[in-house]
Amino acid sequence: MTSSDATTYESRQDRLRSQLEQRRLSFLAVTRPADIFYLTGFRGDAGLAVFGPDGARLWVDPRYTLQAQSDARGVRVIEGKKSLLALAGKWLARRGGRVGYDATHLTCAQFETFREAGKSNGRRPLRWEAVASPVAELRAVKDPDEIDRIRRACHLTASVLDEVLRTVRPGVREADLAAELEYRMRKSGAEGPAFETIVASGPQAAWPHARASNKVLAPGELVIFDLGAILGGYAADMTRTVYLGRPTRRVRRMYEAVLEAQREAVETARVGVQAGAVDAAARRVLKRRALDSYFTHSTGHGVGIEVHEPPRLARGQKARLQAGSVVTVEPGVYLEGFGGIRIEDTVLVRTNGPEILTPAAKDCWYLA
Ligand code: ZN
Ligand code: ZN
Repeated sequence: MTSSDATTYESRQDRLRSQLEQRRLSFLAVTRPADIFYLTGFRGDAGLAVFGPDGARLWVDPRYTLQAQSDARGVRVIEGKKSLLALAGKWLARRGGRVGYDATHLTCAQFETFREAGKSNGRRPLRWEAVASPVAELRAVKDPDEIDRIRRACHLTASVLDEVLRTVRPGVREADLAAELEYRMRKSGAEGPAFETIVASGPQAAWPHARASNKVLAPGELVIFDLGAILGGYAADMTRTVYLGRPTRRVRRMYEAVLEAQREAVETARVGVQAGAVDAAARRVLKRRALDSYFTHSTGHGVGIEVHEPPRLARGQKARLQAGSVVTVEPGVYLEGFGGIRIEDTVLVRTNGPEILTPAAKDCWYLA
């Protein structure tokens, strides 16, 4: 695992502070673990960080004290033996001002605890400001350290899939292939799978989010593999589809359409382009082949610390891709009772064009 130097976190925290100024906030309470990891390098599944004009504090419960003291950068670590929200609320009450909190993450009950504690012995009452995903905008543009981690997660994922595809044949169980993929991810250094590995064959390949079942692969079936490793705290996401046997004309036509839709959409993923335009590019190709009505999900999503992050590559999405956006491009077609085809890469948007980070072959797709 790469250990980023302190300046990486310093510059992320600086950018957060300039957002605080823009929003006229005295403090911002960050509660989403992925945001805390992004801003400080501390990776626990609980904790509360408060960023202010001069310094930041990170409250953690005793399970995480040592880990936070070792990993967290640019924050003062405080061990809290009771509700972290109550402790931070009291601390804020002694200071006063406008406090932003992540309204897309805290539950109503949690916010009540926070606000109640903020009333105690306050000189000036706190003013609370709901902010939707306050760190999402920063996280949507990856810095070199993040790109390095995602690139390594993607390479690991692609090479594991390459190895396991050689063992795919009729008679093998979906669940065994999924287990083998996840085992090899860990053996190659991944911290684990970023999400439950999908191996879906035959009619089940028509369910975009099928899980790996006890079903045995049969000749003449399409098989979808959707997987991604976590490495250095960052996710990869890729999908390949193979056909067991010599493809019929219908299957060949479908596969070529999805492949072309995917290539076109990847080509569209450039700096300044709206997320919705990448989605539209994939749909246009499928429409020419009269397959667009079988493409039932959006074209892609951002990838980073979490496997689904903004931007969404979906109809009408106006967010513009930037240099440093990392997104998936994953069109698919799904025919009930027959099967499905999806091809997905994780793509880095660079000033000079898109770069595919999951470099596994897409043209050797049937096992004749
Ligand atoms: Zn995927
Ligand atoms: Zn995906």
